[in-house]
Amino acid sequence: MSLYKKAWLFTLFNILLLVALYFGLPVFGRVLGTLGFLVFGFYILGQGLVAMTVFTCPKCGLSPFMGSQSLFTSYSPFPRKKCGQCGHDHTQTE
Ligand SMILES: [Zn+2]
Repeated sequence: MSLYKKAWLFTLFNILLLVALYFGLPVFGRVLGTLGFLVFGFYILGQGLVAMTVFTCPKCGLSPFMGSQSLFTSYSPFPRKKCGQCGHDHTQTE
């Protein structure tokens, strides 16, 4: 499977999870209280980290969710087809 497809699956999984959490949040908050929201916050941070570190360009290591390797770069919630740094085609399987 290509990196582009894998990154998309990850994005879709997160969207589904967020929708499920959105409807489950009142219940979640009542059961776990403040701790539940802390866990939720850490999850949000964690999945962002996963998107930056697990899904990387095989050539230059840049995440397909990032525009370039510079400090001031654009972040996208959806993966890019082409690497912003080296131009590698993420839709191709290695
Ligand atoms: Zn690259």
